[in-house]
Amino acid sequence: MSKPSTVVLAMSGGLDSTCLLHNFLVRGFDVIPVNFQYGSKHNAWEGVAFQRVYKHYKDHPLLGEQIQTNLPIQIVLDAAFRYTESNLMKTGGEIPEGHYEAENMKLTVVPGRNTIFASILASIAESRGYSYIGLGVHRGDHAIYPDCRQEYVEALAKTINLSTDGKVDVAAPFIGTDKGGLLKRTLEMDQHGPCPVHLTRTCYKDQKNSCGKCGSCTERLEAFEFAGMADPIEYDNDIN
Ligand SMILES: [Zn+2]
Repeated sequence: MSKPSTVVLAMSGGLDSTCLLHNFLVRGFDVIPVNFQYGSKHNAWEGVAFQRVYKHYKDHPLLGEQIQTNLPIQIVLDAAFRYTESNLMKTGGEIPEGHYEAENMKLTVVPGRNTIFASILASIAESRGYSYIGLGVHRGDHAIYPDCRQEYVEALAKTINLSTDGKVDVAAPFIGTDKGGLLKRTLEMDQHGPCPVHLTRTCYKDQKNSCGKCGSCTERLEAFEFAGMADPIEYDNDIN
């Protein structure tokens, strides 16, 4: 029997997964956050953001005890993706700029990524008696990422449930909303303090400041505009 209100969470250190962590903690879940280092251009920067967000919550007087590890869990998967070709990877071409819907943004797809991540999360969850794996996928990802679509999440949930003999389910609470919607909803959940969006990292490029031009930055800036808040992170050329 798995423990109720427990989740092993995929956490990049980006906006969506940080909002997801915030949602689970505020709702009283015990959480194991897991960061995957898989060889993408922005992975090292995401990893730094993940550590910052982890520390914020671990030190939180009300929510800290719900994080169930003493050290942030980072899993290195470079070898598993060594032969995968994508512009998102260090070995790939340039990161395209513009909206996610644009045809060239498909160059940033990393085939199989969420399926591989989910399998590892499920292994951790089942072995430790955790009830859920948590994914921050949302409706806005659907246009180009097949492993972020509703049908995929439903099929994945069935697979994870079968493979763990009914012990683990998939929680993807943002699947019906877009990035702006999930951000707005999370900013309103401030009864234990605000979600630390200023610590997150979204840009796909391998550089300190976010570029403000890649698909990921573009969508993030639109989400903050929708939520009625200025994005507090630093961008190149003060784009914000
Ligand atoms: Zn960017």
